[in-house]
Amino acid sequence: MGLCSAYYAQQDGHDVTVIDNQYEGAGSTSTGNAGMIVPSHFVPLAAPGMIQMGLKMLLNPKSPFGFHFPPSVDQLLWTWNFYKAANSTHVEKTETILRDLNLFSRREYEALTEAIGVGFELRKDGLLMLCKKQSTLDHEAKLAQRANQIGVRAKVLSLPELREVETGAQVDVCGAVRFLDDASLTPQNLLSALRDHLTRHGATFVNLQSPTGFGKTKGKLDRVHTQVGDHPFDELVVATGAWSGGMVRSLGLKMPMLAGRGYSMTVEKPPVMPKVCALLAEARVAITPMENGLRIAGTMELGPPSDYVNENRVHGIIESVPQFYPEFSEADMHGEPIWVGNRPCPPDGLPYIGRIKTNPNVIVASGHGMMGLSLGPITGKLVSELLSGRETSLPLNQLDPNRYA
Ligand SMILES: Cc1cc2nc3c(=O)[nH]c(=O)nc-3n(C[C@H](O)[C@H](O)[C@H](O)COP(=O)(O)OP(=O)(O)OC[C@H]3O[C@@H](n4cnc5c(N)ncnc54)[C@H](O)[C@@H]3O)c2cc1C
Repeated sequence: MGLCSAYYAQQDGHDVTVIDNQYEGAGSTSTGNAGMIVPSHFVPLAAPGMIQMGLKMLLNPKSPFGFHFPPSVDQLLWTWNFYKAANSTHVEKTETILRDLNLFSRREYEALTEAIGVGFELRKDGLLMLCKKQSTLDHEAKLAQRANQIGVRAKVLSLPELREVETGAQVDVCGAVRFLDDASLTPQNLLSALRDHLTRHGATFVNLQSPTGFGKTKGKLDRVHTQVGDHPFDELVVATGAWSGGMVRSLGLKMPMLAGRGYSMTVEKPPVMPKVCALLAEARVAITPMENGLRIAGTMELGPPSDYVNENRVHGIIESVPQFYPEFSEADMHGEPIWVGNRPCPPDGLPYIGRIKTNPNVIVASGHGMMGLSLGPITGKLVSELLSGRETSLPLNQLDPNRYA
């Protein structure tokens, strides 16, 4: 969110400084994710059935879902707000904005590829939702039907049809849904390309620094204090991912946020390379062919941001892959370094994009949960429109960062 906001702001003629407490965002969630661009994700995390499914999964230590114990008061409040949002009315109310954000961002990725030129490749093969059980395929087929009704292209594939699409690896499933508008890329290559472009065009990067406070002149925020000095600004964009809740709290706004911790590994030389990125439906694992190997990602453990690796859940991810791709064995993944990321998750599954009421020259660009890679370009564009005082390309009322204040 930070780099995309910086990119679009720079395109609009703003002078940009990026402050990050890591070296070049090394610990950010945006580096090791599954690299999927997902118009298929028009249903928010807060949806009917999610609480029941989560409770069931909690009983299995290898399942893809976890919940930090003991929960803090903030975590309990977040859960209450999630519970209130997890219903069909909320899903109906949010599918249009989620669809529009995703489809807009997908188009914007094409423009970004053209504009930045080299550095990252956009793979436009769509996404496969691989289903082992007929009941899962039936459920996904209903979702595919809804997708087509609202303009997101999806096709249910029988096993022979799937084999014509997935030509890189054998699959042991009963069928799949192919979401044709989805795409994928190698996230770290995108981030490097953005960083290079920003640097070449005059952006300043302040690495390994965190705001230690903020300064005001005549009641208006106008500088960030860091240990290496002050950085003046006209406008501040908070894009600190799962850590954004704490950052805006120091600016007077309560904005509920939990981290959805997940893991990935990148197998440089897999036994076979699947051609199309896929979600293994029952296992909730993502598989993405990338420029540096095959990335395998999964798990959602809700709680405070953390880099703790839960080996049981990593094992759950590893076990699932040979069940869907029989040419793989668990040994192909054992020993690979495990990357940990913290998805910024608001209770209602909608991003926070907009100005904060307590300090109107502060814009939040955060809370994209499972879709942050996907929604980077549209978020950057919306931020730059706010910065420049233009009408935004999409309505922001449902994304208001003040909605829980
Ligand atoms: C396993 C996994 C798989 C995923 N797969 C996908 C996918 O396929 N598609 C998709 O769209 N999304 C995916 N996501 C979600 C996506 O990665 C996130 O939504 C996205 O990376 C969030 O981006 P962000 O810029 O908000 O946060 P981040 O990328 O975490 O960036 C936050 C930045 O703020 C900095 N920062 C934090 N605190 C401070 C501070 N106090 N001072 C200064 N700097 C600070 C951090 O160093 C970091 O650089 C996945 C996530 C996980 C965990």
